[in-house]
Amino acid sequence: MKVAIAGSGALGCGFGYLLQKNGNAVTLMDYWEDHIQSIRENGLTISINGEVDNAKMTIGKPEEIEDKFDVIFVFTKSMGLRSMMEAIKHTIKEDTQIVCLLNGLGHAQTLSEYVSQKNIIMGTTVWTAGIDAPGVTHFMGQGPVELQNADPSQEEAARKVEALLSEAGLNGVYSEDVHFTIWRKACVNGTMNALCALLDGTIKEVFESSQIDFLLNHIVSEFAQLARTEGVELDVEETIVYLKALALKVGSHYPSMHQDLANRRLTEIDFLNGTVARESEAKGLEAPYCQMITQLIHAKEDVLGIS
Ligand code: NAD
Repeated sequence: MKVAIAGSGALGCGFGYLLQKNGNAVTLMDYWEDHIQSIRENGLTISINGEVDNAKMTIGKPEEIEDKFDVIFVFTKSMGLRSMMEAIKHTIKEDTQIVCLLNGLGHAQTLSEYVSQKNIIMGTTVWTAGIDAPGVTHFMGQGPVELQNADPSQEEAARKVEALLSEAGLNGVYSEDVHFTIWRKACVNGTMNALCALLDGTIKEVFESSQIDFLLNHIVSEFAQLARTEGVELDVEETIVYLKALALKVGSHYPSMHQDLANRRLTEIDFLNGTVARESEAKGLEAPYCQMITQLIHAKEDVLGIS
């Protein structure tokens, strides 16, 4: 299959490498000059669960790519999705499937400004990845990648992408309710990411705080309140049990928002707690905790001089 990765950072390189290794024709698209140059000159060096390999890969800026693709995985940060979709328009054909596994809320709406619902596959992934240097990345975990077609008539297309992923070792799983999966992942990021970034602690340290039950209850309740307006039922108590169990598994880590701030990069807060605050207000609902968390994260970005 002809596959493109639009946004070839940490996750994009991991997916691109494994899909190419399984025989697909993969093109990486990105804008980071040093990363592009390093991959062109030295290949992509990638550690997959500790096993290091180096692979020659095709990479270029979207404007330089003339091909059209069967499947395009978008792997920008949330705030880069719209400009990337604008830049890759010419690589999309009538039946190209755009697969979006970004963290955050509202991405299906953004994609639908560029392609028909029939071309959109939404999902989440629990693979983790990072960039050690331009052209050098690591990729860890075992998945899964949960996904589902945005248009109910397109299950076959999503099943094909599920198979594409699974054959490459990426553990694709067809989801019967991807909206729930996306909202629940947003709750993970809207609690663990935001709180660890603000409190400068690991997940374990933050989840051992005497304030954690109070904070989780308020934040998750605000997510659940808005999710309900979109037909998604998040049980607050069950979600908190899920978050606490997850925190026990991954406790020693600093989540990505903490790392973004440490690396002087903008966070995805506007697509997590920020969306809950904004959309709740628009619907006449109150979400003061998400509002305050969003403002504090933006204040932290300002203090660190990130723009
Ligand atoms: P990333 O930051 O590694 O890459 C995103 C884009 O930023 C790429 O275009 C990349 O080239 C660019 N970039 C990265 N570092 C840069 C630098 N120093 N200078 C200039 N450009 C740079 O993002 P990611 O971690 O692959 O995440 C993509 C999406 O997937 C996000 O929505 C994220 O929340 C989500 N996600 C990430 C992980 C993870 O473990 N990394 C896990 C699940 C979901």
